[in-house]
Order: sequence, then C-alpha cells, then structure tokens
Amino acid sequence: MTAKVDKPDVKYTQIFINNEFVNSVSGKTFAVLNPTNEEKICDVQEGDKADIDLAVNAAKEAFKLGSPWRTMDASARGRLLYKLSDLVERDAEYLGKMVTLENGKQYMAALGEVIGSSKVCRYFAGYADKIHGKTIPIDGPFFCYTRHEPVGVCGQIIPWNSPVYLLFMKIGAALCCGCTCVVKTAEQTPLSAIYCASLIKEAGFPAGVVNIVSGYGPTAGRALAEHMDVDKIAFTGSTEVGKIIQAASARSNLKRVTLELGGKSPNIVFSDADVEVSVEASHQSLFRNVGQVCCAATRTFVHEDIYDEFVRKSVARAKKRVIGDPYDEKTESGPQVSKVQLERVLELIESGKKEGAVLQCGGGRHGDKGYFVESTVFSNVEDNMRIAKEEIFGPVMQLMKFKTIDEVIERANATTYGLGAYVFTKDIDKALTIANSIQAGTVWVNSGTVLQPQSPFGGFKMSGIGRELGESALDEYTEIKTVTIKLPYK
Ligand code: NAD
Repeated sequence: MTAKVDKPDVKYTQIFINNEFVNSVSGKTFAVLNPTNEEKICDVQEGDKADIDLAVNAAKEAFKLGSPWRTMDASARGRLLYKLSDLVERDAEYLGKMVTLENGKQYMAALGEVIGSSKVCRYFAGYADKIHGKTIPIDGPFFCYTRHEPVGVCGQIIPWNSPVYLLFMKIGAALCCGCTCVVKTAEQTPLSAIYCASLIKEAGFPAGVVNIVSGYGPTAGRALAEHMDVDKIAFTGSTEVGKIIQAASARSNLKRVTLELGGKSPNIVFSDADVEVSVEASHQSLFRNVGQVCCAATRTFVHEDIYDEFVRKSVARAKKRVIGDPYDEKTESGPQVSKVQLERVLELIESGKKEGAVLQCGGGRHGDKGYFVESTVFSNVEDNMRIAKEEIFGPVMQLMKFKTIDEVIERANATTYGLGAYVFTKDIDKALTIANSIQAGTVWVNSGTVLQPQSPFGGFKMSGIGRELGESALDEYTEIKTVTIKLPYK
C-alpha cells in the first residue's frame, strides 16, 4: 500500500431490484456527502414506499414455491455464497476505499471491515447444507420430524457505521437459510452496498433473491417495517428506532423482529491488570471508528489503586492519536459520519463539562472542515452524568473510579443497555465473576473488541432482541415445522 490511497470512482448509484439497477419510481435522488471535506460525492436514487413495494414483490416472487431459489440444492446456495465471498475479497481494496469515502473510516480499518465481511459470507456459505431438523420419539404410532424452513421475505435495515460488514451479517445468514432479502441501506452510506449488489448479480444469485434500496428511514425504512408481505425484519441502529420497528411489526403482520441496538458498555479495570495492556485496549475499544461502534467501551471503571496512573496514561495515549485524512496510512481517526453526529457528540461533550466531569484532553471540534472531533477524555465522571448514561457514538472516553467488585457490578449493570462488557484482571475468579454477573451479550476478558463470524452477537435488555452471527443467527432466519405422520403400527 502507498502512504496515501486514491479515492475510488463511483460506479453504481441506482436501486437494485430483480438483479437490475433501476431509477426510483418518483425520480427523486439524494446527495451523498464526503464527511472528510463536506463535499458532495454524487447523487443516488432515492427509494421510498413505491420502490420498497417493487423490491418486496421481487423478493416474494423469488421465494415462491417452485422458483429457481426454492428448488436450488442447499449445497448450491452455499456455492453461491462462497462465490460472493470470493468476489468481495477480489474487490476488497475498491470496497474499502468506498467505505472510507462515504463513512470517513480510516482506510486500513475499512479494508479490514471488507475482509471481515467476506469471512462472514464464507462462514454462512458453509452452513447452507447443514441446517436440518430432528426425528422425535413422540408417544403413539407416529413418525415425527422437524424441518427448519426459511422464514421468507426478510426486510433488513442497516446503519452507516460499518456499511459492508452489517450488510453481510444480515444477508449472509438470511441467504444460507434460503430466505430472500430487501435491504434498506443507511442514507449516509449507500454506495458500498450498491456496489455489493453488482457482486451479488455477478455471483449468479437468481433475480429477486437480494434487492437493495437506498433511501431514508421514515419513508423507505418505515414502508419495509410495515409491509404486509415481509415475513421478518432485522434492524441495526438506535434503540429509539428499534422501538418503532417493533411497533410497526405489531401494527402490521407480526413479522418476526430482530434488533441490534445501542450500548453503553462497561469496561472494568482491576488493580492487578497489566496497566499498559489495559490502557491501550481500552483506548482502542473506545476510539476505534471514532467511537461509532455499538459495543464501544464507553464507561471505563478503574480501581482506585491505579486510577490516577490509568488516567494519566489514557490521556497521553489519546493526545497522541493521529486525526486526519482517512486515506493517509498515518491517520488513526477520521471524521464522524455526518454533521448531525458531529453536533450530537459536541453537545454531549458540553454536557459533560457543565455537569462537572474533568476534561483531561480534547473537548471540541478538530479543524473547521470535515466532521472531525478531538480525541476527548473525561475523568471524575459520575454515574448520573449524561456522558455516563447516553450513547455518545463519538471519540469521548469516560473514566470512573471504583473500590469493590460488588459495587462495580451493580454500577456496570445500572443501565438500560446490555450489549458488551470488558474486564481486565489477572485473577481468574474476578474475571469469571464479572463474566457471569454483567448483563451483556458479549464479555471480553483482557481484550479489546473482537467480533468473529463464529460467535453470536447481540444484546441483553434494550440493546436488542435476538442474535446475529454464529450458529444462533440461523434460528432467527428459520421457522421450525413439526411434521407428524400416523403409522399403522408402533
Ligand atoms: P438510526 O436508528 O436513525 O438509523 C439506522 C437505520 O434505520 C438507517 O438505515 C435509517 O435510515 C433507518 N431508520 C431511521 N428511522 C427509521 C424509521 N422510522 N423506520 C425504519 N427505519 C428507520 O440511527 P442514526 O440516526 O443513523 O444514528 C443515531 C444513533 O443510533 C447513533 O448515535 C447510535 O446511538 C445509534 N446507532 C447504533 C448502531 C449500532 O450498530 N447499534 C449503528 C448506528 C447508529
């Protein structure tokens, strides 16, 4: 790789339905902005209800009994997914550059996201012909077995923070189970997913199996969530919109709902932890993707015996963090994704200052062009401050002090969220006590954030419903059918 990566040319800007790129029914378009310089990248077709109707209809046709997709061998579905993962890998550099362009993510991280996406796709490819039921010894002269059938047409609404990874988390699981998909991408980052649509076509998936619509939440997203012909909706984004999705299901056809929502993940550092290791891992788990990660370590509880040293070292590390052009390989942090997110982060930083947290470094906008925020560290944070309670989704670290393990467990769990948790200690008893006591979908011990296709990911409490990735994801995209056959004898 050269020190500076070239920006990619945009090749596709249309809606993808039935394996064709088409304009929106309304003829409307919307602008995609580059968060690094606030300039327009291009206009893309803006889908709304009419386009969602067409896409759902295509997905419904593709799911019909007797269709090429429904009659395809499960192993052949797997081969298509393997092919798709190879194509994603082939075009990883281009796709990574596209993620950097529309999202602002540092290029090596964007490339990592794309490579990770091809791994997710390959993981699910392997499952396609391994999804099966059981024979069950029920009472009486009966033969009873179960079939795990695809749930049907799946609506999948994704956010902007990892636009390619989240796309493959959703379609990978759905397709290996034999479902069809209508994806609504985030309005901030439609371009990388539209390019993936071209790879889906190239891989050879039958028309209508995957449809991708660019558009806004309250129009296109809402139409998908309320659609009577959508059998399941999978949503990643804010808890606020997650509630809207759940209510839309209840109001329409009780479509199955899985939600992957926000978090305020605790990060607990005991006094026996390796301070250098825990400072660096805590730094990365918070500042990665400039804090725009749902399981970011946003509440760091440090034992009082090492608190001052931990604060000093965390501040020194944050001050060293290189902010700048995300295409430059020296850069560690790019911009926030949008002006809305920039303003939201700055407003929460102000609240931290007003509520009495000690601002150790950062605390404002970085530069005056692009949506950059300084790497910010607050110490002396109290649990009732807004910065300790609300999801900031920005590069803002909260350092709190604790004395005892019981106290820190209670404080860590005193949140409506439950997505991730981190603990640093060399004491196995402490590590396991924390792992067992924290209400969170994933607990990392002596490690920063690790997300792999093989392990389930999802939230307790208001961080979500259901699990993505891992074998558990298959349960979310299948219906279990029990078949009971009367026999002439026992
Ligand atoms: P959001 O929840 O508004 O948007 C996520 C997706 O939902 C987008 O595709 C959006 O168009 C769609 N959407 C919005 N309103 C909708 C509606 N009424 N019906 C159907 N779909 C709708 O998230 P955001 O505004 O982009 O970000 C706001 C906050 O969400 C962030 O600060 C963060 O807290 C959280 N977030 C979480 C994740 C995550 O991975 N868990 C990702 C992005 C954002």
